[in-house]
Amino acid sequence: MSFEAPSLTFCAIPWMHLELQGDGKVVFCRTHGQKEIGNFCQNTLPEIWNSPEQKSIRARMIDGEGVSECGKCLRNEHFGSLSTRSLANRLYGSRIQQSVAGTESGKSPEFKPLYLSIKTSTHCNCRCRTCGPWNSTGWLGDYTKLTGLVFETPRIEEKQLLSALDSVLDSLELLYFVGGEPLLSELHYKALDQVLAHGRDDLHLSYSTNLTTLKFKSWSALDYWKRFEHVTLSLSVDDIGERNEYLRKGSVWQELLENRELLRRHAPHVRVIVHPTISAFNVAGLPHYMEWMISSGFIELQNGSFIFNRLEEPEHQSIQILPLEMKNKITSDIQTYLRDQLLKNYPLEHCLTTLRGLKGVLAYMNEADQSHRLPTFLKETQALDQIRGEAVLSDFPELEGLFG
Ligand code: SF4
Ligand code: SF4
Repeated sequence: MSFEAPSLTFCAIPWMHLELQGDGKVVFCRTHGQKEIGNFCQNTLPEIWNSPEQKSIRARMIDGEGVSECGKCLRNEHFGSLSTRSLANRLYGSRIQQSVAGTESGKSPEFKPLYLSIKTSTHCNCRCRTCGPWNSTGWLGDYTKLTGLVFETPRIEEKQLLSALDSVLDSLELLYFVGGEPLLSELHYKALDQVLAHGRDDLHLSYSTNLTTLKFKSWSALDYWKRFEHVTLSLSVDDIGERNEYLRKGSVWQELLENRELLRRHAPHVRVIVHPTISAFNVAGLPHYMEWMISSGFIELQNGSFIFNRLEEPEHQSIQILPLEMKNKITSDIQTYLRDQLLKNYPLEHCLTTLRGLKGVLAYMNEADQSHRLPTFLKETQALDQIRGEAVLSDFPELEGLFG
């Protein structure tokens, strides 16, 4: 059954998805919108499903109004990249058609989440340059050194989160774990135990992970994944070797390679995609990054193998801050790489989403001049370098013109 979206601003997500965050918050969309629509410690999920906030989003989508909460998807489309919205409409549109038809004033007649994401904790062993203490406990010390402030990590409402998960397991098809680092979260393994106890080993598991570890305490992620047919890992790996260790402080490149090998040997069914965050640090190295990823066999090039996460915040790390001359060189290097290597060596049908993703990166970079933020980038980078005993130019010599 083909699906015709009722309006240009329509997205299937509010009819089939929720994100549960460990502290009780429920947000309407994992991918880009962080708007809170309820709290699972205070209300049941069916109540939150039709909360005033969620109804307002649905009603605006059906009426074709601009939905400000969905700005990032709209920007992705504007820059020519794939958006989660287009993917969700394509994959799930026909499945939610009846619910959409029965929706009145934004109230959906059916509580049937197909896709749930859960943030089981902010516990993480890394302190990535582009992250902060709100997502990683690894960042707490550096945050205090940088700002003089103490960040309070929110309490995880474990019992209520497991109970909320249990309430949707019958309808669920996709369960996405985010963190912190989900593989270092006890709650993640308890959630998997609950899924298995419910007989749902057919569930598609998906993860955002830094791949620094496949074990935690007595739990082995590999042992769990062997019991599920569909597992996808979206790897937060931003660069190669020491450059990645600088950007993703706490990760050890050799261990990442070993874990990749363990996956290949013990859980070859697990699909691996790389999801680099593209910032002012690593954008110039993208051609080398991509070529290494493919030629080393770290990933198999297919549509969807590379998902480029264009960093927009903090704004002073965005690729829009780079000087025009540098942007021109990066644009030319990436275009040359695409023309002379990627498209010459690999079938076009395997490259399509990668091409669109890179087109979006370049369009975003070249759209605006934010070079007035360069002084903040230099200052913050050097302050963190000093705390960590690092030197940005040792790993990113191409930035010498900025720091020299
Ligand atoms: S349009 Fe994008 S941000 Fe909005 S609900 Fe859909 S996927 Fe989420
Ligand atoms: S691995 Fe993820 S959660 Fe941990 S510091 Fe990096 S970006 Fe943040």
